[in-house]
Amino acid sequence: MSDTAHPLLPSTTPLLRRAGDAVQVGGVDAGDGLVVRPAAAEVTTLLRGLDGRRPQRSVLADAVTAGFDAAAVAGLLDGLRSTGLLVDLDPADLLASDAGPAAVARTAAELPAARGTSPGAARWAARRRATVVVEGATRVGVPLAAVLAASGVGRVSVRDRGVVGAGDAVVGGLSAEDEGRPRALAAADAVRRASPLADVRPLPDGVLPDLVVLARPWAAADPVVTVWQSAGAAHLVATVRGETGVVGPLVVPGRTSCLGCADLHRRDADPSWPALAAQLTATDAPPGGSTLTCLLTAVTAAQQALAYLDGSGAPATLEATVELRWPELVPARRRWPAHAECGCLDAPA
Ligand SMILES: [Zn+2]
Repeated sequence: MSDTAHPLLPSTTPLLRRAGDAVQVGGVDAGDGLVVRPAAAEVTTLLRGLDGRRPQRSVLADAVTAGFDAAAVAGLLDGLRSTGLLVDLDPADLLASDAGPAAVARTAAELPAARGTSPGAARWAARRRATVVVEGATRVGVPLAAVLAASGVGRVSVRDRGVVGAGDAVVGGLSAEDEGRPRALAAADAVRRASPLADVRPLPDGVLPDLVVLARPWAAADPVVTVWQSAGAAHLVATVRGETGVVGPLVVPGRTSCLGCADLHRRDADPSWPALAAQLTATDAPPGGSTLTCLLTAVTAAQQALAYLDGSGAPATLEATVELRWPELVPARRRWPAHAECGCLDAPA
């Protein structure tokens, strides 16, 4: 426990009265709970006061003022910590929240999942600073952008030059009322519906986002990918082809295999692949994918994006795709290692 840790017991953690003046903290679903006894009403007040706004030393000092034994309270906090019920917030995370009661309420719901596994890891602050560009206001791209903004990513910009069609409407994304509007503007509105204070402005020329999401099918053949690859911007594929959701590869240029590598592997398997790929990308793909497949793909991709942006997990899509195939939609991983002919990893990173 670091000296600056601000203990938070999420307000959703149940505090349940048990016989013998005991209180059960959590432990009603998977995961450990803790039974505290004796548990007078003061203990419940103490636990509910763990709102992440005070460092532990202030919590202990306030507890002593209220008549508690400091060592007993410290032991209680450690017990809650060992069960995973208590979250230690980093002060940088607390400063990185938007102002106002509505923003605070939204942050309170998101923060526990954004916590780091090690003290001092300010993951929420990292999310708030992050910028993401989504290429393609598709049935995957727009709900994905909305999920990222709602999860705390500070700036999410959706790029698309087309006009919304009736088939673009999807839960959490573009709506039926958007038909006929410029897709980029309608997508920005969808992001703001999910996160009213999100910054949805396009990035200035020459400024690289922290991550680009490629939401159009067959991104490897898209000229825009070459631009991001040579600029050194990390990019993640998130799309639905037919009824198969495809998340990945997540490409960190110069450090992991690129989309060109995967394309060369496809060519090795079928020499006709370049001619086939040219046909697949000759025209804009119509909106497609069931709501279920699109949303599951968007959420899977959002988890990968957050894992990359704030280090909250090891992305499973580095040099690999996660595919969600209808009707089971059980994630299957497919490896795409670097291709010897590509040369994308030869240049100094
Ligand atoms: Zn490559």
